[in-house]
Amino acid sequence: MLTTLYNHFTTLYSSISHLSPSLAADHALKQEQEVYKKSTKLTYRNAVIQSVAALKRRSPPTSLSHPSVGTEDDIKLRLDQANSLKSFVLSPFHLQPLVLSTEAMQNWGFMLDIPDGPGGEQPTLEGKLKRCERCTQPFQVSRTGPDTECLYHWGKLQTTKAGGEKVRVYTCCSRPAAESEGCVHGRHVFYESSLQDLHSRHPFSLLRPPSPSSKALDIAAMDCEMIYTTGGFRVARVSLVDARGKEVFDELVRMDDDVYVIDYITRFSGITKENHAKATLTLSSIRKSLDKLINSDTILVGHSLENDLRTMRIVHHKCVDTAVLFPHKAGPPYRRALRDLVRENLGKMIQTGDASTGHSSAEDALASLDLVRWYILDKQKPKGSTSNS
Ligand SMILES: [Zn+2]
Ligand SMILES: [Zn+2]
Repeated sequence: MLTTLYNHFTTLYSSISHLSPSLAADHALKQEQEVYKKSTKLTYRNAVIQSVAALKRRSPPTSLSHPSVGTEDDIKLRLDQANSLKSFVLSPFHLQPLVLSTEAMQNWGFMLDIPDGPGGEQPTLEGKLKRCERCTQPFQVSRTGPDTECLYHWGKLQTTKAGGEKVRVYTCCSRPAAESEGCVHGRHVFYESSLQDLHSRHPFSLLRPPSPSSKALDIAAMDCEMIYTTGGFRVARVSLVDARGKEVFDELVRMDDDVYVIDYITRFSGITKENHAKATLTLSSIRKSLDKLINSDTILVGHSLENDLRTMRIVHHKCVDTAVLFPHKAGPPYRRALRDLVRENLGKMIQTGDASTGHSSAEDALASLDLVRWYILDKQKPKGSTSNS
């Protein structure tokens, strides 16, 4: 019976066995013990057969933290945890201790003040010279242009080991950093980080103060998708979920007058020319609509929330950030990827869409809220009990 279980675990784990060669043996042993404990001489054989049938129904794992990895008890425990997560309603009482201090906000690149001047005086840089974010060449910003003007890598540089040596390769094409100028063609694009520049494209403002006449959420998780335009890297979709994880806002953003889209970067944003054509509200109108949902007292939750606030031109002081709660071991400015944190802590896969679908800000807003719930539940556990994931 143990051999049968072992053979089926080996088959299931074939794609990840190189990551942990003894995993199939470990889990087969543990699974057999679980079955043994729950059965009698009469029912044992049948119980193992049922376990094998359940193993056959699992989808092949792609990583060690994939939901298909583990014994039946492991998986049930993860499911129970996910359910307790769903029924756990966050309150400001839970979140207040996690709100970033002024010092932490500065360390993590959050804005504290609105830049000087009214802002919004130069929404687009069409005709101006900028340096391309992708290929580093100078170019003249234009709403039209050949799709082949820029040769670049769309992936990030990642350190991997090849033949015992560390090499920096691009995640898009696995080519080493020094070897090629790019693997795809597209338009030249630019990105601005200076607050004064961002302010002159579209003005920053605080969220409205609380008022007795209009209610707002005390907690909301926010995520945005961004695209390249003649006015820089701009917000194109905004999603908000409430403290229960219910979606309360999900809108595409129409560009301001005179601002034209250069690249929808669909593989990252999930936004296409076709769906973006349906956007009716500009950022100013979106901000007005959001005034009904959030105010300066709302605790905003997000992952690398400073980016979302910046692109939304919001200055806000009550922020909980999962990039800070689950820091990269190298410290800021390094950040763990949201999808890795979700996979490791919640045993869930997000952003699994292929190049044509990209991210979904609604999914990511919920994921950051779930991570915060997990973080708080995990902290409440008695010391010594360990999480399974
Ligand atoms: Zn590449
Ligand atoms: Zn370029």
